[in-house]
Amino acid sequence: MKSVDLIKPYFVENYLKIILGLLSLIVVDLLQLLIPRVIKRVVDGLTAFQITTGELLRYALVIGFIALMMGVFRYVWRRCLLGTSRRVEEGLRNTLFSHIQTLSTSYFDRAKTGDLMAHATNDIQQVRMAAGMGLVAFNDAVVMGAAAIGFMLYINVRLTLFVLIPMPLIVIGTRFFSRKMHRRYQDVQAAFSDVTEAARERFSGIRVIKAYNLEENESGRVEELSRDYIRRNLRLIKITGPFAPMMMLFSNISLAIVLFLGGRETITFNITPGDFVAFISYLGLLTWPMMAMGWVTNLIQRGRASLDRLKSILRNRPEIVESKKAASVERSKGGLVFQEISFAYPSSNGPSPSVIVDIDVSLEAGKVLGIIGPPGSGKTTLLNLIPRLYDVGKGRILLDGRDIREIRLRDLRAQIAFVPQEPFLFARTIRENIAFGLQSVDEIDLSRAVENAALRDTIKGFSHGLDTLVGERGVMLSGGQKQRIALARGLLVDRPILILDDPISQVDFETGAMIVNTLRSLTGSRTLIIASHRLSAVRFADHIITLEHGRIVESGVHQALMEKGGYYATTHRLQEIEEGMDVF
Ligand code: ADP
Repeated sequence: MKSVDLIKPYFVENYLKIILGLLSLIVVDLLQLLIPRVIKRVVDGLTAFQITTGELLRYALVIGFIALMMGVFRYVWRRCLLGTSRRVEEGLRNTLFSHIQTLSTSYFDRAKTGDLMAHATNDIQQVRMAAGMGLVAFNDAVVMGAAAIGFMLYINVRLTLFVLIPMPLIVIGTRFFSRKMHRRYQDVQAAFSDVTEAARERFSGIRVIKAYNLEENESGRVEELSRDYIRRNLRLIKITGPFAPMMMLFSNISLAIVLFLGGRETITFNITPGDFVAFISYLGLLTWPMMAMGWVTNLIQRGRASLDRLKSILRNRPEIVESKKAASVERSKGGLVFQEISFAYPSSNGPSPSVIVDIDVSLEAGKVLGIIGPPGSGKTTLLNLIPRLYDVGKGRILLDGRDIREIRLRDLRAQIAFVPQEPFLFARTIRENIAFGLQSVDEIDLSRAVENAALRDTIKGFSHGLDTLVGERGVMLSGGQKQRIALARGLLVDRPILILDDPISQVDFETGAMIVNTLRSLTGSRTLIIASHRLSAVRFADHIITLEHGRIVESGVHQALMEKGGYYATTHRLQEIEEGMDVF
């Protein structure tokens, strides 16, 4: 598939509009070229003293009518052509966004959000410009340029040839300047996004900045970026500034030629004074097509380069793919088996170390698996493998006896409620965050989820209750409150498997105990997988595994692990002291 194929469908879909737009554009061009013909008549009439007031009024009305028609047709072409280019923009943006969403988690580990945003804005804009103004400039360069020259030749061939001498300078000059302008404009854009990004980041991190008294430092950094932005703007002005005067100079050289040579032709009666004035008008009309000729190649080149870049993003295939033979699963029982699984994060520079090594665990439906281990031991990674955010490197994960890679991806994920370690809240209300993605929510279910996530009292404390806005990424809430909203979200959706990544890491002992009670009450109805560094969250589990460097180093139920006297037992004793202190 070639890059242009990306935008072809929009042209095919809107071909009638494009034809109508181009025809209207041609009509506007031709109407514009009629005006000098009318002026010629008036001037010739005036210079021969052979024109009546009635005729003058008629000509004035003709000019008025032409202007009106030009307005109407200009509106039509703008709507049709620029409208189509907006449609191209919209289509490309939707395609890009939906495609990026299909890419696997590992793609987002590598790609920078800023770069993706730049593609979604700058590149799409360049394609829109090429598809809209590119077409207009091309049409004007060809149709208006040719017609204006045609009319001029009709008046006087020799004069036209002389006048055209400086015209290539306008074409070349525009091409040169517009290329430079574009480059510098890109620089300005980049500097602008640096300033806004720096300000955005500092507003997000304002609490840290204040806590460390870094306001002046950070203001200084933003000021520095602002200065850079101004500096680049001045560089742009150095190019945009001389552009218009330069073009004016070239067209005035032509004007000088017309005045001298055309004036001579008029004196010698080779052309009439009307022709002389009309010629000057045509010359004025010719400047834009000449500039358009220089501009259009740049527009098309930039559009193509941007389209190529978008194409290369769209060429990225998701690493997590659905097998053609993938089976549909309505509602699974929730039995899970990890069969000798190993995993290493994909890396661009050579093989990376295994983060999960030979994990072998079997969990019946409705049972609880607890995963513990020091930070970095692979707990989160193991959880991420279940909904296939990443695929295992070796071994298999079975859901009710079937390899999860043989289940349709949507169906697999629909079996799982996932409460991540770092909850992500959207800048909406608490209610919307809990019911995120659900079409309709039963109030009773919602309040049960709130109760079970130990959120009731917290929400009561807010004047707007469930309709309290949480602010950007939930800044209005404490870490523990955010965590419990994410938990309520996971409890609200009734899925056979509930995965919780460190669910009580940010709440106090008492709230933690309430949450653990809720989790206990779920046993039997859902398969629960809980990773936690707080052992009280997994104490009641049917099976507990301790990970170290991605390997299971001990496993069993609470009592058995306590008797073993390993990591579990030691940590348990330490945390008991800690929690005991928490009570006082
Ligand atoms: P835990 O949840 O036990 O704290 P993680 O599963 O988060 O441990 O991390 C296990 C190891 O994998 C760590 O060494 C961590 O640096 C690495 N890791 C985690 N996420 C990524 C990632 N997206 N890309 C590369 N390495 C990662």
